[in-house]
Amino acid sequence: MMMVDLLPLELPEDLSFLESILKEFYEKTGSAVAQRILAGWPNSAKSFVKVFPQEYQRVLRQTAEEQKAHLTNGPMSVVSKPAPVIKDIEDIIPENLDKVRGFMKYPRKTNPYRDPGERQKDWNEIYDFKGVRKTIKTQAARCMECGVPFCQSSHGCPLGNIIPKWNDLEDWREALNQLLQTNNFPEFTGRVCPAPCEVLVLRITPVNIKHIECAIIDNAFEKGWMIPQIPVVRTGKKIAVIGSGPSGLAAAAQLNKAGHTVHVYERNDRVGGLLEYGIPTMKLSKEVVKRRVDLLAEEGITFHTNVNVGKDISAKTLLQENDAVLLTVGATWPRDLPIPGRDLNGIHFAMNFLETWQKHQLGNKIDYDHVNAKGKDVLVIGGGDTGCDCIATSLRQGAKSIVTFEILPEPPEGRAMDNPWPQWPKIFRVDYGHDETKLKFGKDPRNFGILSEKFMMMVKVMLLVSALSK
Ligand SMILES: Cc1cc2nc3c(=O)[nH]c(=O)nc-3n(C[C@H](O)[C@H](O)[C@H](O)COP(=O)(O)OP(=O)(O)OC[C@H]3O[C@@H](n4cnc5c(N)ncnc54)[C@H](O)[C@@H]3O)c2cc1C
Ligand code: SF4
Repeated sequence: MMMVDLLPLELPEDLSFLESILKEFYEKTGSAVAQRILAGWPNSAKSFVKVFPQEYQRVLRQTAEEQKAHLTNGPMSVVSKPAPVIKDIEDIIPENLDKVRGFMKYPRKTNPYRDPGERQKDWNEIYDFKGVRKTIKTQAARCMECGVPFCQSSHGCPLGNIIPKWNDLEDWREALNQLLQTNNFPEFTGRVCPAPCEVLVLRITPVNIKHIECAIIDNAFEKGWMIPQIPVVRTGKKIAVIGSGPSGLAAAAQLNKAGHTVHVYERNDRVGGLLEYGIPTMKLSKEVVKRRVDLLAEEGITFHTNVNVGKDISAKTLLQENDAVLLTVGATWPRDLPIPGRDLNGIHFAMNFLETWQKHQLGNKIDYDHVNAKGKDVLVIGGGDTGCDCIATSLRQGAKSIVTFEILPEPPEGRAMDNPWPQWPKIFRVDYGHDETKLKFGKDPRNFGILSEKFMMMVKVMLLVSALSK
């Protein structure tokens, strides 16, 4: 638990900061309370206390002492510590970043992606890893250990990641240890998590969390730190996990760590669930999935692919052979659109389209021509993330045109009055596929507020229904 001191508000910079936010609050809300406090300023400041984390105070004192010693003795450390011959990328980032109210001093790096014109020509991950790493220390300095860590509350990170701890980044290995305590697969969340933690951190420009998380784990894999952690003691208990998506993999990892013998059963030909066959390679490289699955196998988990539980092996047999059976089978049942004309040719479920293509990409001998967007006019029904993945995949396959229908109205640019912080902001977002399509066809593919009523005769049109489950 983080210990904090409640201090009187005395420092001039604290007083002027508080006064400025009170003024802003009053201007924007007309609050009578803010008006009363401001009328009695600075006397009314005595009713406030400064919530100051002790650990943060310690770091500030230490930094001040180091700076003082540097000024008095000259750059002793340079003499005693020879400069490294090869600099790590993090070493070339300016030192002595001032973290006090860092989120106000350093702007958020808003675009973690590669250039949309370039990235739409390939199937590689869309992220600009090099760019993210270059700015990582400055971005971490935006996290100010505020003492009110919404980001790790039940509304923030669903995994309970202790974000401020790793943002110190004094030591990459320590940051890794911290991260792995709460997150089994940061390389997945660091790429595809919608990052609810970030919108909870700050009202307008959040601290960059997800990409820092990703950099910590990718760096660990690069440095060879991610070696198999094989349990020293086995409990003798045997557990079957049915389904190898992220929930099955995380459960298997935890149970194996606890010393149980774990067997994972997967009906598909590869492990990973929607991580492997669903989320496109541009968002999550299949190499990254394989790297983790291989590590889990080395740690002692046994994977059985092409085993459809209920058909190839009965649930009863699994129950008899194991001490416990875990169902982590996901929601792979598509939501249909049973309107007139549904039986026309050229209408496909999004997952069929994505999975078929991803199997083809991985070298499976699979007939994918009937669900290939090349040269076709594509209409995607459903404007969510899966819809966006369909757009981006169609674009790379060489679609002639791409349009999306979304049933909901177009969201506002900023938060509506009934959607205040810290709720998830229901605002207009431009995801990677939208950006790329706009660049290629000159127009955002989305059309809002459209309720599909009927499918008409289609020629050379491919239609993707992108809602996933009932
Ligand atoms: C296109 C797409 C993009 C997405 N993008 C994101 C994203 O960017 N960020 C994000 O957070 N989420 C994303 N999601 C959602 C995310 O992928 C899912 O929430 C997540 O995969 C669910 O995990 P799961 O383990 O419960 O199920 P799944 O990943 O569906 O895994 C279940 C597994 O169980 C197997 N199974 C089912 N029945 C049996 C059986 N009888 N025997 C053996 N095996 C069986 C299935 O074959 C499957 O492999 C996306 C989903 C889709 C479809
Ligand atoms: S990005 Fe990371 S820290 Fe944020 S919610 Fe997702 S898993 Fe948690």
